[in-house]
Amino acid sequence: MYDLIIIGAGPAGLTAAIYAARACLNILVIEENFVSGGQLLNNYKVNNYPGFYDVSGMELGYKMRDHALSLDVPIVTERVLEMNLEGRSKVIMTERGTYETQTVILATGCEPKKLYVPGEEELLGQGVSYSAVCDGPYCQGADVAVIGGGDSAVTNALYLSKICKTVYLLSRAKRLRAMPILCRQLAERDNIIHIPNQLTDSIAGDNHVGAVWMHDLTTMEKKSIHVDHVFVSIGVTPKTDVVRRQVYMDDEGYIRAGEDCCTTVPGVFVVGDIRTKKLRQIVTACADGANAVVSARYYLESKN
Ligand code: NDP
Repeated sequence: MYDLIIIGAGPAGLTAAIYAARACLNILVIEENFVSGGQLLNNYKVNNYPGFYDVSGMELGYKMRDHALSLDVPIVTERVLEMNLEGRSKVIMTERGTYETQTVILATGCEPKKLYVPGEEELLGQGVSYSAVCDGPYCQGADVAVIGGGDSAVTNALYLSKICKTVYLLSRAKRLRAMPILCRQLAERDNIIHIPNQLTDSIAGDNHVGAVWMHDLTTMEKKSIHVDHVFVSIGVTPKTDVVRRQVYMDDEGYIRAGEDCCTTVPGVFVVGDIRTKKLRQIVTACADGANAVVSARYYLESKN
């Protein structure tokens, strides 16, 4: 039986793994994707993680993973299908096997939200994308649309403006809600056209994206713009379905816990973007990872 199983290997999960390895706990990390790093991998430049300015999300993710591996942390690539978190012995079932552990840290992270408009699903991979870092390099000289108005949308627009001919930033609100420094950089790019107050109605194209249709939220005027790619950047949603009805969550599926990362189930902790909190950043995810291991150690010491 493991002392601790960490599910997810983004910044929160990997920080927990590093702290747990240094505490000499018998641990396992289960990560469903071969390349771990969670949402971090979608950041083309990270400039707010101290000591690593101008690093790509991918590079930082790999550095965190290498750090954990250097401490002999075992990381398996398996998808968790089911968990039984009740009692002293918690059971994790994956597509490959069943694991038993005394404590669990949930670090499954978030996934991009969908627009749910016609054409989005049909043209996925044929011009519709949720990751500028992954698909931006295929957009050399193209006209593209980025949908959203937060940090991700503006970061993506800035990144794509270096590759594409024109970037249309279509935001629902009149004002962007991204960080001021990002908005300032946006204003300095000649090939980014911000069109505010727009709701996307559909994405059109035969076998590949050709246009995006939208309407103005004040005048209700409909229009379309020709684009070759559409990047949907409208926020994220927590990947917590696998523990639904086992731990206490809010209405959006974020798991309720304070800074100690303790959930309502003894021996189960939650870290990173899936925890209820005000600020979701790499640095706050890492802080959770450290705090959760301290809480897990208290729990283990009280039981053994
Ligand atoms: P946010 O939740 O911050 O913003 C979502 C944006 O999408 C809003 O502008 C919202 O519009 C818009 N939106 C939501 N639904 C729709 C819809 N159906 N149609 C059109 N527009 C829609 O999400 P982000 O992905 O930008 O960021 C997620 C988290 O990650 C944040 O905490 C952010 O700070 C963080 N992040 C941090 C970065 C960094 O530190 N370097 C980089 C990127 C993200 P409206 O304003 O009208 O509600």
